[in-house]
Amino acid sequence: MSVRTLVIGFTLVWLSACSQEQTTSSESAAPAEAAAGTGAATPGAAGNVSAERIINADKEPGNWLTTGRTYDEQRYSPLDQINRENVKDLDLAWYWDTGTRRGLEATPLVIDGVMYTTGAWSVVWAHNAKTGELIWSHDPNVPREHARYACCDVVNRGVAAWKGKIFVGTIDGRLVALNATDGKVAWEKVTVDQSKPYTITGAPRVVKDKVVIGNGGAEYGVRGYVTAYNAEDGSEAWRFYTVPGDPSQPFENKAMETAAATWRGSEWWKVGGGGTVWDSMSYDPELNQLYIGVGNGSPWNRYIRSPGGGDNLFLSSIVALNADDGSYVWHYQTTPGDTWDYTAVQHMILADLDINGQKRKVIMQAPKNGFFYVLDRTNGEFISAEAYVPVTWATHVDPETGKPVENPDAHYANDPKKIRPAPYGGHNWHPMTFHPGTGLVYIPVLDLPFKYGQDNAFKYNPTEWNTGVDFGQTIPSSDPDTMIADLKDIKGYLSAWDPVAQKEVWRVQHAMSWNGGLLSTAGGLVFQGRADGHFAAYTADTGQLVWEAPVQVGIIAAPVTYSVDGEQYVAVVAGWGGAYGLASGVPRHHNNVLEEGRLLVYKLGGKQELPKQEVAFIDLPKPPAMETTKEETDKGALLYHQYCSVCHGGGLVSSGSLPDLRYASADTHQAFDAIVRGGAFQGKGMPKFDHVLGEADARAIQAYIVTATNNTIAFCESEYRKNFPELLDTACTRANKAPAPAAQ
Ligand code: CA
Repeated sequence: MSVRTLVIGFTLVWLSACSQEQTTSSESAAPAEAAAGTGAATPGAAGNVSAERIINADKEPGNWLTTGRTYDEQRYSPLDQINRENVKDLDLAWYWDTGTRRGLEATPLVIDGVMYTTGAWSVVWAHNAKTGELIWSHDPNVPREHARYACCDVVNRGVAAWKGKIFVGTIDGRLVALNATDGKVAWEKVTVDQSKPYTITGAPRVVKDKVVIGNGGAEYGVRGYVTAYNAEDGSEAWRFYTVPGDPSQPFENKAMETAAATWRGSEWWKVGGGGTVWDSMSYDPELNQLYIGVGNGSPWNRYIRSPGGGDNLFLSSIVALNADDGSYVWHYQTTPGDTWDYTAVQHMILADLDINGQKRKVIMQAPKNGFFYVLDRTNGEFISAEAYVPVTWATHVDPETGKPVENPDAHYANDPKKIRPAPYGGHNWHPMTFHPGTGLVYIPVLDLPFKYGQDNAFKYNPTEWNTGVDFGQTIPSSDPDTMIADLKDIKGYLSAWDPVAQKEVWRVQHAMSWNGGLLSTAGGLVFQGRADGHFAAYTADTGQLVWEAPVQVGIIAAPVTYSVDGEQYVAVVAGWGGAYGLASGVPRHHNNVLEEGRLLVYKLGGKQELPKQEVAFIDLPKPPAMETTKEETDKGALLYHQYCSVCHGGGLVSSGSLPDLRYASADTHQAFDAIVRGGAFQGKGMPKFDHVLGEADARAIQAYIVTATNNTIAFCESEYRKNFPELLDTACTRANKAPAPAAQ
């Protein structure tokens, strides 16, 4: 049997314009009675967060005032009304359907009884945290075509609040300040050059009356930076670039001059260099240091980016800044001269730990590169690092130098190599948590490899991905046994990590990769939503599953907990998507079948029920006949994995958020060239690709879709389907659910 395609789904391919989706109907709701005053502190003014309140957050544990709850971003709550003994009685208090199909990654804030959260396309919602009533919503009306610059879905990770305002960064690079009482715009700033492929997905942080925001875009080619704006009026306070610009121009500061000496060649600054700060920050008010996590280079491939080597500062680094003026204090680079997309933007937790009999002020991170780092946050001194997931690009981190020792076999310039971790990382943006009672850091781990190869035909194109990596290497194997083995090699788990001993204490193995972020509580619990459409609680000391609830959709965001009127709640935003979510199939054989997102809130003895989902599973339909050749379909497979698969799925298996092309109708096939090159579906958000694809190219992609679909049908009718039913359901069927219930 010849089976040419398959299912894998861990392909991370470039380009794309993942914008095809309706949005929520987010007209501002009629202003309802604000729920302010039902919480503990500072009744009256909505969103009235200050430095004093955040620094003293443990005195009002019923609130969740900043994205990591506290400036140290431990995501640990002192609330213990819900605990390991009674968590079995946790049940749904209320839920709210977002009406959007894209990934939901936000951590809600809860301030004095009002919950502020965000959804796809940077929309903000304010709900009564007790009843679920929508108080207001704000849609920043991001132009849908800007989604072509969102490498990893049109997601947003939440808001910041300060002195009556709510701040959100938008996919098209704006920072918007909203009045917390009614959601009306107070001020708005464009934080990027909007002619360049910048995006914002991360939550802002507010320190010293300044809103700090970074950006993304390093897959395409931009120069990363963070900017601080005065919270009151949006005027710019300071900006810190993470990589040097054109060396013929004066450097912005001494740090940029130092950094420039670690880059080689004469072209690197033209593609931007990368180093975007697209997610994590934390802050130590005593040291007055703001920590930013810096991303990968533009392009990924260092032989193209900086021929001749060099560490390429400050890529893949944690950088400490003076919070007053944004000036450089120290840095630590996790992956010098990164060439695998190993960002250090991942969650950074501050804690004071006893290490070798000494109290150390540490910063901890599990960046994509697979090592868990403990650093002295006063000065960036390396303390320790060990692998938290299988790592093949380096043998270890040298304790003397604090630098990784690269494995010579991890270099793909001449030979493509399968390397661990993948560009998704051993850990991505999904927040960790630190429990001061157990002393453990809990990590949502991704465990999957990626086949890297050099793109020898690399040519910079400002509207597409520019990685210098050959995504043709990610086309799924045509050998069925290899496919099955590759599918089995995609895993994820919840790891409880001892940061002092630098070792895993326990692990909960999950069925799939790309599970949700984490919350720990004084109730002795760790909460996590999973890719398989369940929200669960585990004991913090041993990892025993003590509660789980089906929610009908995969969860990737992190939960929070809060209290109103003396009752504790646990909340999570559920909605499948994000980088891996879009580029891979959905684990349909479990419970991840609802395509729309949902905000879910639980309490002890909750009485709400989710609506029943009518789900039918539809086998792959036979595509229209098409005359083609092996040469043409091979070319189509390569082009598809270059330009289409980030949105429509690796190996043609879509997430369901965007169309699965194997199910394309006869009409779609008829109009294929008009859609792909003519822009017939631009109004739906499908951009046209006539600048990179000729008529024969579009036809080759179509030939690949037809041929690969036929081959998958044959494969799905074979004995493999019987032998590996759960593994192959994702590739062989699509869940077709009933229309979504109206948002309540
Ligand atoms: Ca990246």
